[in-house]
Amino acid sequence: MKPTLTIKGLKAQVEGKEILKGVDLEIKGGEVHAIMGPNGTGKSTLSMAVMGHPNYKITEGTVLLDGKDVLEMSVDERSRNGLFLAMQYPKEVSGITNADFVRTALNKRHEGSEMSFVRFFQKFEKAVKELKMREDLPHRYLNEGFSGGEKKRNEILQMKVLEPKIAILDEIDSGLDVDALRIVGENVSSMVNDNFGCLLITHYQRLLEYIKPDFVHIMINGQIVKTGGQELIKKIDEDGYDWVKAELGIDLEEDLFDLDNKVVLGNCAVREAIEK
Ligand code: ADP
Ligand code: MG
Repeated sequence: MKPTLTIKGLKAQVEGKEILKGVDLEIKGGEVHAIMGPNGTGKSTLSMAVMGHPNYKITEGTVLLDGKDVLEMSVDERSRNGLFLAMQYPKEVSGITNADFVRTALNKRHEGSEMSFVRFFQKFEKAVKELKMREDLPHRYLNEGFSGGEKKRNEILQMKVLEPKIAILDEIDSGLDVDALRIVGENVSSMVNDNFGCLLITHYQRLLEYIKPDFVHIMINGQIVKTGGQELIKKIDEDGYDWVKAELGIDLEEDLFDLDNKVVLGNCAVREAIEK
């Protein structure tokens, strides 16, 4: 059976403010979905809520993985059951090497039939090569001192070794140069099969040239307001989101001048500027 992640009517709050306002989405093995949308619209919130970040409070809705209630699971249970999140801002963890981190996570998925050290290293190094990463990586502390692009590749490295069923990749393209983008894109693409589906969160068309989505969703103000195919990508790239708002009668101006969001847009701009 193909793995299936089913999100229904998901509403979530961050610091008391409702950000997700009812999201419906189903992702199956073999499928690539893309979510595009303006900054501050709730894309990362969706990924954090599904993965179980404690700051994101779910107030309504359901999330099921192969029929099992994800919202009842702890974060590591979600991971062991086959969910994976490549974070927009991967954390640095001092004192744990990259290889130890992934190996521990992998062993926890196969308790009782752990992979031998040698086999693990073969698998890990194969992934390092395929991602054209530096060979000293296995021995360095998790993400510590990595460049923005190396951190992003490292998320994909973990994913290749862990082989999740459903992965959410949050702006995996930010901070990557053109060559890195192609490498990451091809590596993710090559993983897609009946046992693996993914959700790509992105602003830009570039990544989607390497990983062709079957479905493109537009998220505005915490809801998926439109779903289509690849034709939406080009349209967004050329025309932005104003036409969607006009078509659906969404008044985003109101939100942009709302004090909370003004601060947020500022933050996003600063974060993006730092990454460049
Ligand atoms: P996107 O990923 O679409 O750019 P986010 O999901 O990151 O948007 O943010 C959606 C809204 O939720 C923004 O207004 C943002 O400021 C707010 N938000 C997200 N995470 C936090 C947080 N940890 N604390 C406070 N506000 C947050
Ligand atoms: Mg985001």
